[in-house]
Amino acid sequence: MRSYRNRYLLETGAANPNARTLDTPAEDIGEMMKMVIAHEIGHALGLPHNMKASAAYPVDSLRSASFTKKYGIATTIMDYARYNYVAQPGDEGVRFVRQIGPYDHYSINWGYRLVPGVTTAESEKPTLDKWIREKVDDPRYQFGSGFGGEDPDSQTESIGDNAIQASSYGLANLKKITPNLIEWTTKDSKDYTDLSELYGELISVWNRYIGHVVTNVGGIHNEIKMADQEGPMFTSVPAARQKEAMQFLNQHVFATPTWLLDEEILRRIESNGALERIRNLQSRWMRSLMSTRRIQRMMESAAFGNKNAYSPMEMCQSLRRGIWTEIYTNQPIDIYRRNLQRAYLDHVKSLLNPPKSSGTASRFSFGPPTTPLSQSDVWPMIKAELKTLDKDLKKAIPRMGDQMSRYHLEDARDRIADLLNTDNW
Ligand SMILES: [Zn+2]
Repeated sequence: MRSYRNRYLLETGAANPNARTLDTPAEDIGEMMKMVIAHEIGHALGLPHNMKASAAYPVDSLRSASFTKKYGIATTIMDYARYNYVAQPGDEGVRFVRQIGPYDHYSINWGYRLVPGVTTAESEKPTLDKWIREKVDDPRYQFGSGFGGEDPDSQTESIGDNAIQASSYGLANLKKITPNLIEWTTKDSKDYTDLSELYGELISVWNRYIGHVVTNVGGIHNEIKMADQEGPMFTSVPAARQKEAMQFLNQHVFATPTWLLDEEILRRIESNGALERIRNLQSRWMRSLMSTRRIQRMMESAAFGNKNAYSPMEMCQSLRRGIWTEIYTNQPIDIYRRNLQRAYLDHVKSLLNPPKSSGTASRFSFGPPTTPLSQSDVWPMIKAELKTLDKDLKKAIPRMGDQMSRYHLEDARDRIADLLNTDNW
């Protein structure tokens, strides 16, 4: 109940006046509990999670009162699609809480309807298959387990058919609720415990919105098919969408999210810690983008000559420009960005010096095998990137107006020299 209350405030509070309090109206919390119970009853009736159900609805439909009231925010209650975080202030009458949808009627019909005249499970099958066939081309009746972390349409806690758009709306809402967080979470003669809890949850919500976008980079759509259906089951996310995801991440993650650093809030809940928190958040997503598995997935997509492929080189170049922006624009580099830039060099170092056990195809690891890093294109690509970066750093240092930025960039050059001069290769 506490978690539902907190997330209701954070995810819908900008557009939903009812959510701007920790004393959530009983009617609203009741509606949420009703939906949690419906979800659990779904499990009791044999329904698994369907994380693809929320990707059936266009993001902008989630801003429509008539659409959301009729169809909900995902096609099934079995998705992890809790709240409508897309709805914006002024979207009147929109539904904010999930509800049972068309996929639930479809799956319960398939599982439970009595087929007249059948006597065995086997003789029921042609009818059941026919019901599936009737819906194969309708996005409302697709299934995705959400496992694997590769398919941007099949993610937990996301809604809508375009994560970049949906997360942009979600972030716009978070930015509006943050300056109100103190007012909405504190009471006279009480302390700031709730504010502290909500700030922690705010970071979690931010992380989820960002994660939904990251999945698009090197993402693979998975459409479950019967053998007599046309086409492949696995296709790469279009390059244009991947590129757009990188722009989003450069803008909302690697450019310091200063709005999260609300001094009014932070100096009521902690004496320090914000620097490290931001460094952690940024470096987590930078490492995720430059992970062996993602890069090798992108390399394989390119290896098939897929015109749609977004090359890992282009991704690394975009990331370099997003993380080292100041050296291309001659701006002073603040401490958050210096931390991020060092985290980048640190991660590159770990790619070039992987622990002996990692990067090899272990039969105990999940997912498809990955090529050992020293045997893949990852090293040549990373080394080329480092050499380019070093050249750009060299040009940038004399143009830097402030001393700390110059010291930092000189240190970065030393680190790169160390990385490129190891005896490891
Ligand atoms: Zn569940």
